[in-house]
Amino acid sequence: MPKTDGARVIADLKRLAEFGRYKTGVHRPTYSAEDVASRHWLAEKFADAGLDPVIDGIGNVIGRRQQASRRLLVGSHSETQPHGGWLDGALGVIYGLELARACAADPALAGLGIEPVAWADEEGHFGNMLGSRSFTDGLPEDEIEAAQSRDGVPLRAALAAAGFAGRACERLDPARYVGYLEAHIEQGDTLEATGLKIGIVEGIIGSWNYWVTITGQQNHAGTTQMARRKDAGVAMVQLATRIHDRFAAIAGPRTVWTIGRILLDPNAPSIVPGRAELQVQFRDTDPAYLALFEQTLLEIVAEADRTGPCRVAIEPMSKSEPAAMDPGFQALIEAAAERNAPGAHLRMPSGAGHDAQILSRRIRSAMMFVPSVAGISHHWSEDTKEDDIVLGAQVFADAAAAILQAG
Ligand SMILES: [Zn+2]
Repeated sequence: MPKTDGARVIADLKRLAEFGRYKTGVHRPTYSAEDVASRHWLAEKFADAGLDPVIDGIGNVIGRRQQASRRLLVGSHSETQPHGGWLDGALGVIYGLELARACAADPALAGLGIEPVAWADEEGHFGNMLGSRSFTDGLPEDEIEAAQSRDGVPLRAALAAAGFAGRACERLDPARYVGYLEAHIEQGDTLEATGLKIGIVEGIIGSWNYWVTITGQQNHAGTTQMARRKDAGVAMVQLATRIHDRFAAIAGPRTVWTIGRILLDPNAPSIVPGRAELQVQFRDTDPAYLALFEQTLLEIVAEADRTGPCRVAIEPMSKSEPAAMDPGFQALIEAAAERNAPGAHLRMPSGAGHDAQILSRRIRSAMMFVPSVAGISHHWSEDTKEDDIVLGAQVFADAAAAILQAG
């Protein structure tokens, strides 16, 4: 098994966090000067590990290993959320780098085809998982043309400023890889709350989103008799309660749902609201639960519309499909976790989206989690205990070597 150097992992993570340091976290949006500099730094580290680094036309950094006959792609993304944490993405990238170095240092493992990768823009500064999608399926030209940052910078201009425009985009050849393995911080508190060290991801949730509109009659709050009102605010509150109660009755063990956005119009103290909107989201790894939730939501809305006095309409906004992780890879991660941390691991879903859900469409893919302190992420205070980072690196390396050796 590869022998990882925990101190080197921590040192490299801290060095990577210097690119765009913000308090104890990092501000490194995709294609910012700091992001570009960090990608060149990663390419140098990949070269130092004996790999052939490529930074491609979308900013993906891949450490190519030409000689191997069977390869495992390992990594995560390297940009951060605005004022985000130092480990989200970076942990998986440095684990991949360390794995490549540990294998290169061991004559028995030096032939293993480890290819580390740092994907671009998983965090969605310009689009949705641009780097891993570009690599896996290619990006539609019209999407590249239309994409821009929240500040209105076109993707094309950002790529040109970064020095990536005109480079070829690397594309996945499924025959080249045994699969893809990604480590990530959990970003929740399941592992910490249970005192466990390694999460073996069974699947990445799908997230389905809907926009519900309630139309009533705006009117004077003093002169409109109660019996004659078509109060969109009352209808909205009743509908939200009904949705929550019905969802709770049919939920799977890990289904989560949220009404995260509500608008009331005109939202004034002396006016009967004439219109209300709410956005409903639910997530699960099991497509059957997603379908059941959708059917139930449509029924609730149709019933409310029929009963009145307000009209209620629903429109789907977006649906991402859940991604199952490879069962064989899961078993090998679990065995590696059991060797390094007996009894301190857990199979669990991923409540957040990750690059692995994109790769899993084309090649066998799996993920493992390390604990997040207090479950905090997408914030500069995000952290993981050093011991947990070091342990995770070794489990990751053991699992990766086992996957390659098993075929
Ligand atoms: Zn991430």
